[in-house]
Amino acid sequence: MREQTGENKGIPVVRKILSANDQAAMRNRAQLAAHNIIAVNVMSSPGAGKTTLLMATIDALKNTRRVGIVEGDVASQVDAERIATTGAPVVQINTGGGCHLDAPMVGQALESLPLDTLDMVFIENVGNLICPVSFDLGQAYKVALLSIPEGHDKPYKYPAIFEAVDLVVVTKSDLMPYLDFDLPLFKQLVRGLNPNAPVLVLSAKTGEGMDDWLEWLSAQAA
Ligand code: MG
Ligand code: ZN
Repeated sequence: MREQTGENKGIPVVRKILSANDQAAMRNRAQLAAHNIIAVNVMSSPGAGKTTLLMATIDALKNTRRVGIVEGDVASQVDAERIATTGAPVVQINTGGGCHLDAPMVGQALESLPLDTLDMVFIENVGNLICPVSFDLGQAYKVALLSIPEGHDKPYKYPAIFEAVDLVVVTKSDLMPYLDFDLPLFKQLVRGLNPNAPVLVLSAKTGEGMDDWLEWLSAQAA
C-alpha cells in the first residue's frame, strides 16, 4: 500500500505504509532482539524434512545453545509432539487452512515460549514453496529446504523462495544414489537467482553434511 503526500514543496513523496503483517514482524524482531535470540524461518514444501532437521539440530546443539521451536501446520500437533520428545520448548500454531505463517501468529506463539531462557528460535513454516516467503515473521534469517526427491528443477518453478532466502539446504542426501538429482545444475540455478545464498547438502538421517549446517548457524549467531 502506498500513500501520496504533497508536503515536500509540492513534490509528491511516496511512502510505504507498513502492512499489519510488517508491523507485527517489527514487534517480533524487537522482542527477539531484546532477548538476544536469533530466529530462523525454515521454509520448504511438505515432507522435505523440516521437522527431522530441527530435531537433529536440537540434539546437536543441546550442550551449547538453548533452542525453542515454533511449529506451523494447517492442522494437528504431530510435529510439535515429535519436537517435544527432544525436551526443547515448542509451540504449535494451527493455521486452520492457512497455507503460511504470518507475523501476528508468530507473535502470539512467542508469548508461549520461555524467551528469557533461549538463544535460538526456529520457526517451522507451513509446508509450501509459494507464499510463506512473502510474509516477514520478524526472523533474522530465512532458510529454504529442498529434498532430493523433489528434483533439481524447482528453482525454475518456484524462483521467489530461492531468491529470498539466506541459505538453501538440500536434504535427504542419503537418497542421492537412487534418484537423478543433478546437484551441479541445482546449485547453478540457485546461484543464478541468489548469488549470496550458500547451498548446503545434508542428511539429518545419516548425519552427512550436518557439520556445515551447524557451522552456518553458529556463524550467524556469532
Ligand atoms: Mg514438519
Ligand atoms: Zn499462504
